[in-house]
Amino acid sequence: MLRISFAGMTAALIASTLAAQAQQAAPPPTATTKVTDNVYIFRYVGHQSMFIVTPDGVIATDPISLRRPAKPYIDAIQAVTKAPIKYVIYSHSHFDHTAGGQPFKDLGATFVAQRNAKARILELKPPDVVVPDQVVDTKRTITLGGETLELLYVGKNHSDSTLVMHLPKEKIIFTVDWIPIQGIQFRGMADTYIPDIEVGLKKVIAMDWDTLIPGHPGPGGKQTGTKEDATNQLSYLQDLSAAVKKEVDAGKSYDDAMKDISLPKYQAWPSYKAFLGMNIERYYDFWNRGI
Ligand SMILES: [Zn+2]
Repeated sequence: MLRISFAGMTAALIASTLAAQAQQAAPPPTATTKVTDNVYIFRYVGHQSMFIVTPDGVIATDPISLRRPAKPYIDAIQAVTKAPIKYVIYSHSHFDHTAGGQPFKDLGATFVAQRNAKARILELKPPDVVVPDQVVDTKRTITLGGETLELLYVGKNHSDSTLVMHLPKEKIIFTVDWIPIQGIQFRGMADTYIPDIEVGLKKVIAMDWDTLIPGHPGPGGKQTGTKEDATNQLSYLQDLSAAVKKEVDAGKSYDDAMKDISLPKYQAWPSYKAFLGMNIERYYDFWNRGI
């Protein structure tokens, strides 16, 4: 009896400890992080957006609400301020970042995107993506309530419609999917332009900023990066490109290149193992066929 009850107690203790650990390990699905006095990050599971609060209204970015309600994002903004949401600015055209904007539209927000993003959205008509009201070609400055936000197009990279949103006063940039924090590029680098992405990275590195807000948190849930993350990403792409070119020049096959190439400098980045082979394939196409 005694032994059974001890065993039962031990099992219960282990179960409750495990449950407590699981609770600690799993972050809540949404979170609001204050970056400066008036700049915030809203995280929605694995996506994140920047929003800027001013006395005259809010500048929000990507709705990040594909196949899920946008209400948690709107609630997060309204928990900080009751000022109206004046703008929603798309980082680029991809639906996992742009979907779910209708409730923002219903509140009267003006949607802004790079011209190519609007063209892509009109062409593909993705469900639940609000068509931008206004477009940016290469540069637009939005001023609201004493805040200045520059929308800059530095060329093609992870899409042909990516904006770099720059807050000159706070020295912050928000740009999505092409400058990860300690990560290699996503899978087969779909929609990515080579070598334009490297040219764009050099332009961003030359700009005046200290803090990078990416569209996805990095390892350990890290939500912001630094210029070092951008220079590391450029080094990674340059090292990858050189390694793949060598294989192509030597007449090696796709499979040989994927087998031969390792880039130990970046091995500790969590996505290295999963995506390196696919990143190699993308650069192989570029060096082998110019595509
Ligand atoms: Zn994307």
